[in-house]
Amino acid sequence: MIKENYEQLKKEIGDAVTLVAVTKYHSIEETLEAYDAGVRHFGENRVEGFLEKRQALPEDAEVHFIGTLQSRKVKDIAGHLNYLHSLDRESVAKKIEQYSPHAVKCFVQVNVSGEASKHGLSPEEVPGFLETMAAYSKVQVIGLMTMAPHTEDESEISAVFGRLAALRDSLRTENHDNIQVEELSMGMSNDYGIAIRHGASYVRIGSKLMGSR
Ligand SMILES: *Cc1c(COP(=O)(O)O)cnc(C)c1O
Repeated sequence: MIKENYEQLKKEIGDAVTLVAVTKYHSIEETLEAYDAGVRHFGENRVEGFLEKRQALPEDAEVHFIGTLQSRKVKDIAGHLNYLHSLDRESVAKKIEQYSPHAVKCFVQVNVSGEASKHGLSPEEVPGFLETMAAYSKVQVIGLMTMAPHTEDESEISAVFGRLAALRDSLRTENHDNIQVEELSMGMSNDYGIAIRHGASYVRIGSKLMGSR
């Protein structure tokens, strides 16, 4: 089933967009099944799951941390962390600088919709935050990430993704070596089509690929 799902999704998404398979609710066996189907990017939102999947997967797989990361836990995963999608606090950057043996590709998480339940910076806070990131050479900012509101209203979702793309466009000229605001991590099982229409370059897909739980 995972193989069929993956082939269908690849057809829809194309090669220009990186599909991150979100395996947070799925077993190691299912995760390896996705690897065998061709998936090479995996997403986990908890430290335990991240380490468990990292250990089980072959070396050429990349495991992305997509959830809120407490700064005191950075050291537990720093050695394996290639992508972080949820950077929104300087305390996390400090710990990456302190503990990571290599540069970590980071998306700054933006709370475009302004919902109180969502993590991330407000769009207005992003430029100032990027300036502070210039001091952390192991934090390599590659773009912005957001989550759409939970709604059936496609125009509302579309507006959120459009605003993230516009914010990215306004920040592209940042001139620090470790800050390149280019990529957009947005779109999940229910809204990746809308996200791709707005220029998503990374989509994070769980249930539609791995099966619902
Ligand atoms: C769980 C999760 C996803 C995937 O959600 P699906 O709706 O199952 O595709 C994507 N991004 C984040 C940050 C998540 O926590």
